[in-house]
Amino acid sequence: MSSLRASLTIKASIVRRDKAVSEEIVIYVCKRCTASAGESGKCEFCGGEKVACRPGDDGDPIRKPLIDAQGNVVTRAPIWWLKQTIPQLMDDEE
Ligand SMILES: [Zn+2]
Repeated sequence: MSSLRASLTIKASIVRRDKAVSEEIVIYVCKRCTASAGESGKCEFCGGEKVACRPGDDGDPIRKPLIDAQGNVVTRAPIWWLKQTIPQLMDDEE
């Protein structure tokens, strides 16, 4: 009986992990004051436009700041933010 219960528990945890992988994290960040929120719409602080950003999982390189060929940090903002706010900068990098 106890082994049946254990196998059911394992199966449940696998299903839950698969779901987490398929769900992409999206946060909405105000372009003007960079306040973040879980919902789209106008910024509750300044009324500015919010953009949908995908910051990725822990350890994703998209979370790091932009670094040039010499290893200098170009901006302190993470790459997922730059992609939304300065797409032409990211095009130059490619
Ligand atoms: Zn704002």
